[in-house]
Amino acid sequence: MKKRLFAILMVGLIMLLVVGCNQEKPATEGAAAAGKFTPGTYEGVSKGHGGEIKATVTVSADKIESIEITADGETGSIGDGAVAQLTADIINTQSLAVDAVSGASESSAGIIEAVSLALEKAGANIADLKDPANRLIVEQTKQEDLNVDIVIVGSGGAGLSAAIEAKEAGKSVVILEQMPIIGGNTNRATGGLNAAETTIQEENGIKDSKQTFYEDTLKGGHDINDPELLRTLVDHAPDAIYWLNDMGAGISRVSLSGGATNPRIHTPADGSAIGPVVVNVLSQKLKELEVDILLNSKAVKLIEQDGAVVGVEAIDKNENPFKVNAKAVILATGGFGANSEMVVQYRPELEGFSTTNHAGATGSGIVMAQEVGADLMQIEQIQIHPTTDPESGYMFTEGLRGDGAILVNKEGKRFTNELLTRDVVSQNILKQTDKMAYLITNQEMVDENASLAKYIKEGYATKGDDLSLLASELGIDAAALEATLKTYTQYVKDGKDTEFERAHLTQSLEAGPYYAIPVTPGIHHTMGGVKIDTKTHVLKPDGHAIAGLYAAGEITGGVHGGNRIGGNAVADIIVFGRIAGQTAAAELK
Ligand code: ADP
Repeated sequence: MKKRLFAILMVGLIMLLVVGCNQEKPATEGAAAAGKFTPGTYEGVSKGHGGEIKATVTVSADKIESIEITADGETGSIGDGAVAQLTADIINTQSLAVDAVSGASESSAGIIEAVSLALEKAGANIADLKDPANRLIVEQTKQEDLNVDIVIVGSGGAGLSAAIEAKEAGKSVVILEQMPIIGGNTNRATGGLNAAETTIQEENGIKDSKQTFYEDTLKGGHDINDPELLRTLVDHAPDAIYWLNDMGAGISRVSLSGGATNPRIHTPADGSAIGPVVVNVLSQKLKELEVDILLNSKAVKLIEQDGAVVGVEAIDKNENPFKVNAKAVILATGGFGANSEMVVQYRPELEGFSTTNHAGATGSGIVMAQEVGADLMQIEQIQIHPTTDPESGYMFTEGLRGDGAILVNKEGKRFTNELLTRDVVSQNILKQTDKMAYLITNQEMVDENASLAKYIKEGYATKGDDLSLLASELGIDAAALEATLKTYTQYVKDGKDTEFERAHLTQSLEAGPYYAIPVTPGIHHTMGGVKIDTKTHVLKPDGHAIAGLYAAGEITGGVHGGNRIGGNAVADIIVFGRIAGQTAAAELK
């Protein structure tokens, strides 16, 4: 039965392809066939990833002339990327048969829906517009070769920060990004940004010191962090926050996070995820500075001349090769958490693990750097994040545990101090039945934490008005769960967890409704990578720098040692991204 269905689907697919190939219309014919609009401007509203999406579409009698999208709820650059690509595709092809933007599928669906609704009001035949056979053939464009001072590969937090610094130092800059949207894994950074001795901590009455931050990170990193890189991170972290806030990031809240002695993870005021905020403010600034970001443009090889790196070979959206000739290259390509082959190459026991990473975390920058003689550092150090969705790998911020959530197993029992470092909590979850656990929170926490509210809205949690209802929804022992919570509430009241010695007992979790989010560890961060010095020069095994080559962010190794503390990735990419931009600009001949 299944085989037959598969065969029918395959025949359907082949027919679609054949029909699609034969019948795509030349640019002059297609629009009128599918179109026939009542000229004017129309609005359509749909539901997106994070709220309403409004399309304002202007049509003439036979053409979609322009599309404007308002989508405040869509996650920053993800929404922007989807808007830019989809509106261009719809107008260029005069068709609604357009592909969703990779990494922004919900936003894409919402945008297409809103445009369809607007066109319906314009009297269009939507079925015709959604028929791939009616798409206009768009002439392929080819990216020309470019000449710039500095080419930056990768548009995550590190690349964007480097670009701002380099451009502000008066250099010509271009960013290459292989994906259709900017932001990389940075878009997915849910927590915040660690820094000690900040004015924000001071305003909140928090006592902390750079030295404690340094020691916590070293301890969390199993004492193998590169001391100089770590010192650089700690020293520059406060400035990174002020720099982002000067651009409008609004980072003003400080919380406790795993592995930190004092509250030091800085987040936006409502506790919402830091990543999209960072990508938004940085990309906004780059727009002002008129720095081009070439999307769908993948660097494949570094160009060398007389022992120095002088540009990159790349391929554009249509697989055409092009070159960017430059005086310096900054690699900000992120890690390799989505490249399971590379993960298994360095850590065979991680075969089959899901990943929290975006699809572009392939480690290509590490390979390109190796090809020109770069040394690698601690490449086998790969972090698994304790709390990811067992099905999709979607990650739930560590801040949830910091703010009061507890972990229970399928037997309804706590089994760990929830605030230990990621590696230890992950190992403890892997020892439980089905290698999973539940994050337990209550309504009071939901009301105070925007990230948690979002997870619930997106359907990751099971709700129970009281613990026994929650247990029955989860299919676990109600009496055990009730006993666990009763004991925990008492610990919070006493200010002492005698079982697991959890500090920071803030939420008593005494009242429902309750929520349970199923979690399991997933591949999260590749801590090892290209070896750099504190100025971000890429180093060879003999300790000498490779002329013209710089690297910053998750592509590099050494900052985090054997285990990254939550909140240090964003600090890392901003601090070292800025240094890379400054150093490369200062060293141009
Ligand atoms: P970081 O946190 O270090 O800034 P991110 O993962 O946020 O790293 O961003 C790295 C970006 O680099 C991603 O958007 C990824 O798609 C991009 N990238 C990776 N390899 C290449 C490549 N070869 N060419 C262009 N872009 C790349």
